[in-house]
Amino acid sequence: MAWDFSTEPEFAAELDWARSFLSEEIYPLEVLDLDHAAFRRLAAPLQERVKERGLWAAHLDPELGGQGFGQLKLGLLHEVLGRSELAPFVFGCQAPDSGNAELIALAGTEEQKRRWLDPLLDGRILSAFAMTEQGTGSDPRQFTTRAERDGDEWVITGRKWMVGNASRGDLHIVLAVTEPDADAHHRMSMLLVPGDAPGIRVRDLGLMNDPGGENPVWAHGEVVYDGVRIPAENLLGGRGEAFTLAQRRLGPGRIHHCMRWIGVCRRAFDMLAERAVSVAVHGGPLADKQTVQNWVADSAAAIEAARLLTLHTAWRIDQVGAPAARTEIAMIKYHGAQVLHDVLDRAVQIHGSLGFTTDMPLEQMYRWARAARIYDGPDEVHRVSVARRLLRDYRPTAVPTEHVPTRRAAALARFAEVLEHPLESVS
Ligand SMILES: Cc1cc2nc3c(=O)[nH]c(=O)nc-3n(C[C@H](O)[C@H](O)[C@H](O)COP(=O)(O)OP(=O)(O)OC[C@H]3O[C@@H](n4cnc5c(N)ncnc54)[C@H](O)[C@@H]3O)c2cc1C
Repeated sequence: MAWDFSTEPEFAAELDWARSFLSEEIYPLEVLDLDHAAFRRLAAPLQERVKERGLWAAHLDPELGGQGFGQLKLGLLHEVLGRSELAPFVFGCQAPDSGNAELIALAGTEEQKRRWLDPLLDGRILSAFAMTEQGTGSDPRQFTTRAERDGDEWVITGRKWMVGNASRGDLHIVLAVTEPDADAHHRMSMLLVPGDAPGIRVRDLGLMNDPGGENPVWAHGEVVYDGVRIPAENLLGGRGEAFTLAQRRLGPGRIHHCMRWIGVCRRAFDMLAERAVSVAVHGGPLADKQTVQNWVADSAAAIEAARLLTLHTAWRIDQVGAPAARTEIAMIKYHGAQVLHDVLDRAVQIHGSLGFTTDMPLEQMYRWARAARIYDGPDEVHRVSVARRLLRDYRPTAVPTEHVPTRRAAALARFAEVLEHPLESVS
């Protein structure tokens, strides 16, 4: 019997350590209204402690300074880290840097790794992943940003949108059309572009969860690449390989997103439950009202179901690889995002007006959670791809396979002899 839902004791101890580290060292930073520079100053000594503990950049293989945990263990770690939006940065697995490091590790030359991967892994530089173009983000076949060869250089021209770390990134990984005549999945390549290259213009964007651009970790921007020149050797992977590489980057990354959402859910659930037993109205505690009991019970079941679905997907990736687990990877995205929204919504609701104010972290968590249904591909796109793949196993029939009269006729024909001579058959 190969199924096993237990966590080995050594790793459980690491998760316990991470949990305490978050509540003792990282939660206090959340309420200091830090800007990015101050946050990085305070995060630096904590990052050293994470490195000493052996949990730094856990998504990478050991030869790259990571732990080689595999997706299942990584998922469990991300569940803990998801409890604070500051934690992934402190643990060296912050998007988009984590995915970018994986990409360079996967497809980079030795020189590219030396120049970009080593400092990324050390946390000395930040990076951006410039893929989306506004209005066509969910259909990369329509992207128009292009890179053309001019002697020993690529010249990049185009406009990208919602690029995390755009204004802070020392490196941009840009997806651009280099093979305009190739088929839809082989038109784009990835290019390594220094963040200070002439011709890059960034406009920082206000986000629903951060209209004033004050978030200590996140900054997203619209980027214009206006004839940006980079050396020919800055191509990452082969020409026309961007689509394939992006799929390899986004698949396992989704596990980490989804497990972080479980962490957010758990923190919101703790607030919900604490409030339920703390406040009494109309003659009794909120915990005794059936509506609140429904919220508690439904939230707990939904979190557990999303968690198991996500961990099972992680296990599938470890067993059979990300391409074979595509259906599950897409499923956890829209399912997890919905659970995240619902649990946060109930947690806000039980706090009443307090939940609507910045005196509780819930309003900020709620606004940030809204993005989960959009980034990493909108939920609708993932639903379409899951439905398409599942429906491939079905064939049209004139009469439903389960049609009872048809089945009855077949069964009567099959057992006719026994039914006609009931006594003979039992004697
Ligand atoms: C917080 C956040 C961070 C992000 N970070 C980055 C980043 O670092 N780098 C980067 O390149 N991008 C980033 N993105 C962009 C993200 O990847 C895109 O927003 C996403 O892929 C959707 O693209 P779009 O916004 O252009 O939406 P569109 O493609 O314009 O889609 C709009 C809406 O159309 C509907 N829709 C689209 N396709 C279908 C379909 N097939 N069936 C039914 N309905 C459909 C959906 O409701 C969808 O929400 C980020 C986005 C967010 C919100």
